[in-house]
Amino acid sequence: MSVLRARLLTCAILLAACQEPADAPPEPRRDSGSPSYAPIAVFDSARAWRDLERQVGFGPRPAGSAALDATRAWLEDELRQAGLAPQREPFRAPTPRGEVDFANVYADLPASSGTASPLVILVSHFDTKRMDFPFVGANDAGSSTATLLELARGLAAAGPRAVSYRFLFVDGEEAVRPQWIDPDNRYGSKHHAAQLKARGERERVKCAIVLDMCGDRDLRFHRDAYSTDWLQELFFAAAREQGLGAHVDGARDPIADDHLSFLELGIPALDLIDFEYGPQNAYWHTHEDTLDKCSEESLARTARIVLAALPKLEARLVGGR
Ligand SMILES: [Zn+2]
Repeated sequence: MSVLRARLLTCAILLAACQEPADAPPEPRRDSGSPSYAPIAVFDSARAWRDLERQVGFGPRPAGSAALDATRAWLEDELRQAGLAPQREPFRAPTPRGEVDFANVYADLPASSGTASPLVILVSHFDTKRMDFPFVGANDAGSSTATLLELARGLAAAGPRAVSYRFLFVDGEEAVRPQWIDPDNRYGSKHHAAQLKARGERERVKCAIVLDMCGDRDLRFHRDAYSTDWLQELFFAAAREQGLGAHVDGARDPIADDHLSFLELGIPALDLIDFEYGPQNAYWHTHEDTLDKCSEESLARTARIVLAALPKLEARLVGGR
């Protein structure tokens, strides 16, 4: 992701997002007589940490690499073991280094009411940025990938909920060039967004929640200026209620990330990102992005925020259950 590139396009994208009717918050249902109920999902932070170590063990994982192929196969295997049915979404796209073969992976957890129910997409990219040194990307994107995988296990084990969930691992978030210059970025999320339209799924998708750089030992999520306001506030309020208020409400910046691919379709989206990794973001995209700069506690806190927010989100989307 990039904040520099974000500033260049602030006006255009903010304008588009503000004018989009889907940006308006859905009215919470007030006519539900039953108390709110959602299955309790368990997040095993020790296992998530091992998943982070495993990814780092694959080495640098840029789009099109054998290491990313191995990471993808491992993710699919883990999702299968969680009782989910991973779908591979391969595509080829031109990049500044020629044609590259990409492939996203996703798995759906259908709602208790069936597969046609509202769909919420939880997203992490799983590629690492191509560098001229061995960049292992412990935080970017090992941490969010590990967190999303363990969330998928926990939510799948807890059973169907009021809405359907899609656990989406996207390839090619990182720009192939050193700089983030459109259209050289977000390859996987842009492809998935296009596929949502092509498959007729677009109308089911009520929002997308992107996790990124959530493993920082010193965890504090930014107030991303592109993210849909009501969605960001819903997650940050859940954090405060969990006693995790110190980890949200960080600096406000327009941050370009995978959520833009969904916002461009008019889908409300949130980028849950800590974009100050080390002093002045000094560890970001450098040889400093290693396991020792991350912590299991940060993965656990991120998951607590997400798991506390989901029942609120479900109540907003379909009413209390
Ligand atoms: Zn990155």
